[in-house]
Amino acid sequence: MTPANPAVTDSTAPPVAVHKLLSGQKALVTGANSGIGKGVAVALGQAGADVVVNFVDGDDAANAVVEEIKKAGSRAYAHKADVSSEEQVAAMFARMKQEFGTTDILVANAGLQRDAAFHEMTLAQWNKVLDVNLTGQFLCAREAVREFLRRGVVPEVSCAAGKIICMSSVHQEIPWAGHVNYAASKGAIKLMMESLAQEVAPKRIRVNAIAPGAIRTPINTAAWQTKEAYDALMTLVPYGRIGEPEDIARAAVWLASDHSDYVVGTTLYVDGGMTLYPGFATGG
Ligand code: NAD
Repeated sequence: MTPANPAVTDSTAPPVAVHKLLSGQKALVTGANSGIGKGVAVALGQAGADVVVNFVDGDDAANAVVEEIKKAGSRAYAHKADVSSEEQVAAMFARMKQEFGTTDILVANAGLQRDAAFHEMTLAQWNKVLDVNLTGQFLCAREAVREFLRRGVVPEVSCAAGKIICMSSVHQEIPWAGHVNYAASKGAIKLMMESLAQEVAPKRIRVNAIAPGAIRTPINTAAWQTKEAYDALMTLVPYGRIGEPEDIARAAVWLASDHSDYVVGTTLYVDGGMTLYPGFATGG
């Protein structure tokens, strides 16, 4: 009997091929040995991209992410660099060019908090957060754009000449007392991303952002580790659960892929409804 669809049943091609949205693409993820960056790096690798796993400390954790990506069949290596250092960022992209030939996707994810009451905030705390969260994204995005402009569109790889995803936060929108430096850095990322997107869109470079809500990572353990803290957090999340790095990773794969080709200069909120002003569900 003839199979109903010989093209499918006789195929020797790996069945996962259709899911490899990012085959042939080269991605760099900053801050990729922990939390959201780790989830994104692994997901991009599973989607077929070769991945540079940037980190600033924690060699073992970075190597473990590399191994996970390799297990999925993609190439990967770890690269230690401080994203707030112009020289180190330039060297990271130069090595990527040597190892992988180019850059197609940048996920500018590295970020940190240095919390303090405003009247006690030191200049060092202010500068550290702005240096890593904002200047780090500027330096990495600038290197990526230079490479995208040099190379242009390669239609077999992607409709776009390159994709940048800035990891922002719901705090690009929601003010956050006690975290003024952090909220200022994320608010700045919003307009950096939008202005850059406007500038480079004619070159077929797509720049977008993801604004995560509360995601279970080491950056915010105090917000979810105890039952009391978790319950308090849930009053801010209409969807009723904390986010996982995989929730952000899936959004990043889509934003990096040609499936989102007409999405330019947008922030995708992945926050379980945190930006819906949940206090107004019963008040107001
Ligand atoms: P995390 O602490 O688990 O990871 C942060 C990563 O950034 C780590 O890999 C760290 O090594 C790296 N990093 C810090 N300084 C660096 C530097 N100078 N150079 C290179 N890498 C550096 O935290 P996370 O929650 O995974 O945060 C990732 C991003 O997501 C951050 O930009 C953060 O602001 C953002 N975010 C997180 C949440 C959340 O709820 N977890 C919510 C909104 C936004």
